Amino acid sequence: MLEVKNLSKFYIKKKIWGKDQEVRALDGVSFNVKKGECLGIVGESGCGKSTLAKTLLGIEKETSGVATIEGKSRQQLGDKEWHKKIQMVFQDPYSSLNPRLKAIELIAAPLMINEGLSLKDAKGSALKMLQKVGLRAEMAERYPHMLSGGQRQRIGLARALMLRPSILICDEPVSALDVSIQAQVLNLLMDLQDEFELTLLFISHDLHVIKHIGHSILVMYLGKVAEFGERDTLINLPLHPYTQALLGTIPGLDGKKHPPLQGELPSPLNPPPGCTFHKRCPKAQKSCEINIPPPTIKSGRIVACDLITSQ
Ligand code: SF4
Repeated sequence: MLEVKNLSKFYIKKKIWGKDQEVRALDGVSFNVKKGECLGIVGESGCGKSTLAKTLLGIEKETSGVATIEGKSRQQLGDKEWHKKIQMVFQDPYSSLNPRLKAIELIAAPLMINEGLSLKDAKGSALKMLQKVGLRAEMAERYPHMLSGGQRQRIGLARALMLRPSILICDEPVSALDVSIQAQVLNLLMDLQDEFELTLLFISHDLHVIKHIGHSILVMYLGKVAEFGERDTLINLPLHPYTQALLGTIPGLDGKKHPPLQGELPSPLNPPPGCTFHKRCPKAQKSCEINIPPPTIKSGRIVACDLITSQ
């Protein structure tokens, strides 16, 4: 369904004094997702997850590389068709909804903007979608501040589904919600995934959630792919020291003890040379300070670490 090849997004940070600096927010990222499956994307904040989402949506223009949906790039499909196929649910259900619009207007908006329908014509479909996400019809006339966090996130979900996308990017969709509500919204998302045959890209820092919902996992570090593969392969036998360290923060997830993650994520403005993980890596050797490990297929997944041999 979705194929991403060598996708990069570099920003130039202007300096008043000295040379401008290049920030490699996304650096040669490749992966694919099968139709109807869910890819979990993990990594610390600042690792490029949100830049990846914005670049796939077309909010940011890629510096190089290409993404295709069912074999067609955004250039081939055109912006309008691309945006119909790929939609997003945002992390904060409050700031992503216009506080001056009622729930029904928020849900109907994609049809009004993209299809040129009036509110009157879009209202019927919007009401059906409101009920599909588990909200009662009387909530249609409420403003975002009159709804709970979970209800607002359901509105965000309904709005994202109005154009019947093939792919839904969910950027930390439950992290702003109470723990008691998180499971309800996740279960709803999984039901809707089945019903609408959605392909999901689920961004989260929570490996428990990713383990529950993802068919495959992409681990990102400083804009690059550290490890990418099928969920059980990665959880049961993580190869990259960064994946192992992330799993090490969650006791018992893979049943093994890994060294915990040391130190802070380096600044993307001044990344370390060689393997960008070497300053925090418990397995680093002298060569890791010089050589940049290319993503390579090892033991049934893609991993970017020179010191791993296939097992
Ligand atoms: Fe660690 Fe070296 Fe592998 Fe990088 S290449 S992850 S520093 S062992």
